[in-house]
This record gives sequence, structure tokens and C-alpha cells, in this order.
Amino acid sequence: MLHVCSANAFSPVETRGINMEHYDYIVVGAGIEGSWTAYQLVKGAEKKPSVLLLERFPLPHSRGSSHGQTRIIRNAYPDAFHTSIMPTAFREWQKLQAESGVDVLVPKPLLLIANEEGYKKMDKIIACVNEEKAKQPDADIQLKELSREELETEFPQAKFSSQHRACVEHTAGILRADKCVATVQSEFKKLGGVIRDGFEVTSVVPGERVTVRGRFNNQAASVTASKLAICAGPWASKLIDPLLPTKLPLEALRILVFYWKIKENGPGAIPSTFIDCGEGDFWGIPELEYPHMYKLSNPSYTDQVEPDDRDKNVGAPDYSSIADYIEKYFPGLEIKPSIVETCMYTVTPDLTCILDTVPGHRNIAFGCGFSGIGFKKAPAVGIMIKQLLNPEEEKILDSTAFRLSRFSTD
Ligand SMILES: Cc1cc2nc3c(=O)[nH]c(=O)nc-3n(C[C@H](O)[C@H](O)[C@H](O)COP(=O)(O)OP(=O)(O)OC[C@H]3O[C@@H](n4cnc5c(N)ncnc54)[C@H](O)[C@@H]3O)c2cc1C
Repeated sequence: MLHVCSANAFSPVETRGINMEHYDYIVVGAGIEGSWTAYQLVKGAEKKPSVLLLERFPLPHSRGSSHGQTRIIRNAYPDAFHTSIMPTAFREWQKLQAESGVDVLVPKPLLLIANEEGYKKMDKIIACVNEEKAKQPDADIQLKELSREELETEFPQAKFSSQHRACVEHTAGILRADKCVATVQSEFKKLGGVIRDGFEVTSVVPGERVTVRGRFNNQAASVTASKLAICAGPWASKLIDPLLPTKLPLEALRILVFYWKIKENGPGAIPSTFIDCGEGDFWGIPELEYPHMYKLSNPSYTDQVEPDDRDKNVGAPDYSSIADYIEKYFPGLEIKPSIVETCMYTVTPDLTCILDTVPGHRNIAFGCGFSGIGFKKAPAVGIMIKQLLNPEEEKILDSTAFRLSRFSTD
């Protein structure tokens, strides 16, 4: 039997032996996107709506895409639609930190590197940042191109070639991922939000009242809501495809993450996060997780996976291309990984997320396909999903670029 925990939820109605609770909103999926969406729905509202956040696994869990210790947060992107939402996302993370008293965001410069292959991307990043600074003069975005001498002086631990160009975003940082998820959920609960973990949603029935069916404590269960948001990460297609005329263009990928020991008597590791805009899209995060380890990986260590089978048949990874890269540019790191972990990306063909409503059902919205860049944006995603479900309210962020229709061939 389910219990109504929200003061605002309507009285339960018995329906064929199932206790049907009704909420103003239900959000499916308590990863970072669903958690922020639930929080944004309840936060700031004068009359607090009843909001239920459903999660199939007991919380906290490491089966999706939002677990672990760190994620990079930055403003610097080569696409205006990404850069433009970041000042809002930053402000929301900072507010969360101030309100909760939990250190979720660690300021840390980001080093962007580009060989000739990456010059175009680097130029686009610089142009986007300058454009955004002109549009949002209050936004704190500091991006500086480094001279060859500055690169060598500020990052003596790396040996980039004379062809490399470099920029540093001094306003970037690291989000402490697990703490972020837990803190958003706890702030959501403080505002009266209800979280029910161990509830696996199996189907959604659209209507003026959306019915969400699933299994809770090994029993069939059913809840209803006036509005529904689905943020199911790598499992998104399973829940959303049955509601759409065509399948979502999503692929779940297993990604391997490598940690490399910092040599005892070497030059050390660079003290910043790091993204290579040209050669292989490598990225790195300094010693904030395991002591004396630099995290460095690239998206080539991915393969398509059934999300429930993420850790099956991982095998011994061939990490030679990362080791070669480290040998070339990071003499302070050992070239054999000390730790290998698995996680999942959910990607779209253009590596940009989808935020939309179900055609014909404006009261069902969804967010998916956040790839390897979605964590930092989650507060903004929550705002945009709230806007999609409430088109009559003031629009704070433009989500046009994230519509599903961009993949339409008509
Ligand atoms: C290794 C790695 C490094 C990354 N680095 C960065 C970075 O530096 N910066 C950055 O911004 N982003 C980064 N990302 C990307 C970011 O972490 C993801 O984009 C983001 O976590 C996606 O969150 P999500 O909420 O969509 O998915 P998830 O975290 O997977 O959440 C989905 C949730 O829905 C639940 N669910 C699914 N189906 C159901 C169901 N039927 N019923 C109930 N619950 C359900 C799942 O159990 C899960 O908890 C990285 C990702 C990885 C894997």
C-alpha cells in the first residue's frame, strides 16, 4: 500500500485494488536531470505544488549516468545555445550551495588545448563566449587565450607542442557529482517534495490526468499526475518511445573512465581540468577523487550497451591510445591506468540533448540524450522542462535548439 506523504496531494482513490495517489507533477528518474527538474518545479512557487520524484533503484545508486565524484562545469562551448544557458546554470548551482551549506561546486580553471585540428573549434568557443558576454554583461565568464610562454609557465607539468593553442576559463569548476545529486534531492524534500525510490515505472498512460504504472516493493502500483516529466537517462527510449510516432534517436553507450597515477618524482599533473578541442576529444580532471590520481579519458572508449548490462563483458580494455597521448603530453603521469570505472552516456546524433513535450500531450515533457555534457546544465534543464509544462508562465531560457523536431526528415 502506498502512503500519501505530500500535504498537497489529493486523497488517495482506490482503483482496482491499487491506491491511486494524485500529484500536480510526477518526475520519473532521480538522476541529476530528474532531481533538478523536480526541485525547479517546487522551488520558487508561491503555492507549492505537490511533486513526486520516482526512481527505480534504491537511492543513492551508481547504475545510471550521474554517479561518481566529479563533473566539469564550464561556460566555454562552441555552440551559442549551450553557452547561453550556462550563466543561469552556474547561478543555480551557487544558490544551491549557499542554501544547503554543502560544497557542491569547487572553482577550478579549465585548460582548453587545440592543435591545428582544433583551431576552428577553439575560435568558435572564443566567439561564443564573447557573444554571450555582450548579451549577458552580468554573467561571470572569464576566458583568456594564453601565449606560448604563458602556457609553459602556468602549466609546466604538460609538454604541448609549439602548434598548440591554449585558453583558460578561470570561471570554470568541478561539481562534486554524488554530493550534487544528494543535495538537490534533500533540498527538494525540504520544500515538501516526495521521493519514492524502488519504484520502477513500466508504462505511462496519457490523459488529462497522466497515469504512471509501475512496480513498487514488488507490487503493481499506479499514481496519477496533472503533468509528467520523464528524465530516465539511458532508459529513456523504453518509456518515451511508446508515446511517440517514431523512436527517439538515442543510443546508450558504456564509457570507460581511467585514472592515472601521478609519478612520485616527476613534474606532477596539471592542477586544472582539461579538454582537448582537437586531438581525440581527451578530457581530464585533477586529483579531487582518488589521492595522487589524474582522471583522463576520451570518448573513443565507448561501446553501445543495453543499460541494464552496463558492467557485463567489459573485458580488459586496450588503453594504448590514451597511454600514447599521456606519454606525448603528460610526462608526470604513469602510462598504465591504476583504476578503470564504467559509466554511461546517452547520445543523440548531434550530441545535444532533447527537451520537448509528447505530440498531442502538452502535459508530458521529457529530457534525454545528455551525452557527456549534461551534468552541469541540469539546473537549466529543470527550468526548461518546467517551462515546457507551463507554457503560459514567463520564459527564462530558450529551449528551441533542443526540440526533437530537429531530427525530423519531413
Ligand atoms: C564518465 C562520465 C563523465 C562525464 N563528465 C561530465 C562532465 O564533466 N560534465 C558534465 O556536465 N557532464 C558530464 N557527464 C554527463 C552527465 O553525467 C550526464 O549527462 C548526466 O548525468 C545525465 O543525467 P540523467 O539524469 O539524464 O541520467 P541518469 O543519471 O542515468 O538518471 C536517470 C535516472 O532515471 C532512472 N530511471 C530510468 N528508468 C526508470 C524507470 N522506468 N522508472 C524509474 N526510474 C527510472 C534511473 O535509474 C536513473 O536514476 C559525464 C558522464 C559520464 C558517464
